[in-house]
Amino acid sequence: MNQPQANHHRLLILGTGPAGLTAALYAARADLEPVIVDGTQPGGQLMITTDVENYPGFPEGIQGPELMQRFRQQAERFGAQVINGQVSEADLRAKPFRLKLDANEVTCDALIIATGASARWLGLPSEQALMGHGVSACATCDGFFFRDKEIAVVGGGDTAMEEATFLTKFASKVSVIHRRDELRASKAMQQRAMENPKIDFVWNTVVTEVLDPEQKKVSGLRLRNTADGKESSLAVEGLFLAIGHVPNTAPFADQLETDASGYILTEGKSTRTNVPGVFAAGDVQDHVYRQAVSAAGSGCMAALDAERFLVESG
Ligand code: NDP
Repeated sequence: MNQPQANHHRLLILGTGPAGLTAALYAARADLEPVIVDGTQPGGQLMITTDVENYPGFPEGIQGPELMQRFRQQAERFGAQVINGQVSEADLRAKPFRLKLDANEVTCDALIIATGASARWLGLPSEQALMGHGVSACATCDGFFFRDKEIAVVGGGDTAMEEATFLTKFASKVSVIHRRDELRASKAMQQRAMENPKIDFVWNTVVTEVLDPEQKKVSGLRLRNTADGKESSLAVEGLFLAIGHVPNTAPFADQLETDASGYILTEGKSTRTNVPGVFAAGDVQDHVYRQAVSAAGSGCMAALDAERFLVESG
């Protein structure tokens, strides 16, 4: 465990995904001596992705974990200090801000929250076993690998419609599996998906098992009809989950303004939250774009906003 000597920091950054590490890079280069807490999923969601082909600057593509290693090396090169640990509580009501980091208390003058969001999963053991082997929660990241294949998308919201529509660029057929007989998605997105000849809807249905972990690839799904309980199967080579994301805001939820889904609200085009000195970057405040490159961009903005705040507050 690599713990800092002092427990007070000018700038503390939570999260080592693209947003947190980009904030760290900019803050370190501005001599703010940032300390970054890596949290429960060091490196963020890209650590569970294989090939990343849409991060600019890597024309041949790069593995998600390697990309995050490079982000970290670049921040550390300028003196950013990454520590292991998890923040379980925060008191943002008075300055300095106080946070419980594992068993210790740390304080800081400015805080950047870049704790991301976690994809919601069905929670099936077979789904977990095939993650990265045909099971994905990111069509933009992995759709390309399913050219001319039959795949399924689970969910009935805007993300499911958007991902299913996007996936028809590659897949020969996309089955949208929804647990009810009515979509949650906006009418416009529903209509676009319904008019797409490559998309089929499987109503009132849940996935009970993903086949076949023994082959280390997706070969089909076992399904159950929620109306009559009947079991069936569907041959597909890929499964995309689009059943929502959960922003990782537990320690701050009652102190920062969030939207109805729990995403931290930021002011205008800035990364400022409703608490002066607390900034939010990346997926914890963005449920729309959710890309590594957009998260990195907002991490840069958060560092610049935090620097300005620290200068102005002396
Ligand atoms: P939502 O929460 O809106 O939808 C999640 C969907 O997944 C629902 O249909 C829900 O079913 C289903 N679901 C949830 N849990 C399970 C489960 N365990 N098993 C099976 N199905 C499940 O999430 P989205 O990611 O779609 O959207 C999040 C927000 O982002 C929304 O506000 C959306 O409007 C917005 N968004 C906007 C876009 C745009 O405007 N371009 C694009 C993408 C998202 P049920 O309906 O039965 O609850």
